[in-house]
Amino acid sequence: MQPCGKRKGVERWVTERGSLHSRLGEVNFCNRVRIPVAQTARVGGEFGRAAGTSVDRGATTLRSTSSKDGVAAVWWSIPCCPIRTMMKILSLALFGLSTLAFSAAPATKPIRALMVTGGCCHTYDTQKVLLSEGISARANVVWTIVQEGDTREHKASIYENPDWAKGYDVVLHNECYGFVDDVAFVERITAPHKAGLPAVMIHCSSHSYRNAQTDEWRKVIGITSRSHEKRRDMLVKSNGTNHPVMIGFPAEWANPQDELYKNEKIWPGAIPLARAYGVETQKEHAVIWVNTYGKGRTFATTLGHQDSTVGNPVFLDLVTRGLLWACGKLDDNGKPKPGYGPRGK
Ligand SMILES: [Zn+2]
Repeated sequence: MQPCGKRKGVERWVTERGSLHSRLGEVNFCNRVRIPVAQTARVGGEFGRAAGTSVDRGATTLRSTSSKDGVAAVWWSIPCCPIRTMMKILSLALFGLSTLAFSAAPATKPIRALMVTGGCCHTYDTQKVLLSEGISARANVVWTIVQEGDTREHKASIYENPDWAKGYDVVLHNECYGFVDDVAFVERITAPHKAGLPAVMIHCSSHSYRNAQTDEWRKVIGITSRSHEKRRDMLVKSNGTNHPVMIGFPAEWANPQDELYKNEKIWPGAIPLARAYGVETQKEHAVIWVNTYGKGRTFATTLGHQDSTVGNPVFLDLVTRGLLWACGKLDDNGKPKPGYGPRGK
């Protein structure tokens, strides 16, 4: 029997909407709240109507939160060592598929989105919730969220699997793994995007893998950036295009205390949509753009250091339009195509 306390492990929870979340790190284990196997299966099964699965065998913590209508989320924790950690995280893809099957609307299947998040320097615990819930309130999107690591050197274990993206319609990268320099690893991430998998790139994703001696990640993003100016208030200016991603975005948007990522190179296929002036470099840098590379579309923004930016409705509207555009589900007026609005409208 393991004593109560925090240890390395995987914490999973599934929400009433059927979205699976996972977090790798120090998680809470406590035998005093251990649920007998039969009961675990029952509780997991009841709630697992949404997830189409039961709570993991060996889970040592199980708790739930309630909403007005009943159970809102169920948590459980799984102890892990490095190898087991990898296997657990890799299994998320399959788990997510069953989650998504339940969540499908009768008329239009929701967009199955994978969010990979974690790494250095940002509060991804908060941002993953702001992004997933904010986007799903605006568009017909269900999520599988994989969060790993809190350093620049971390190699997210999901990417060890060559089929890491199988079953997803789009991947939102909100990751900050700048010092990962394993070329084969990075090119395993980019391969499905080049083959046509839509991508959404948020903030530090543009600086991820910057030490790797391959440009494939930067080509998927569309702009090379390896450094940023000091955090300060930023005035974002639309380039004034009629691109549907920018319909509804103000001509000028005051974005407090963000980091301006320096553009080093704009790759063919990238279309800058908005810019901001750099006090240190004394020139403008693209901060919002779209890109095509290979058969894939990318929406990217370097904005979003602070949770206050990520949770701002202007930002969430923008990223939602960007995600829909990357998936080919945004109409010419900047609205979701039929069936891809909130709750499938
Ligand atoms: Zn940042």
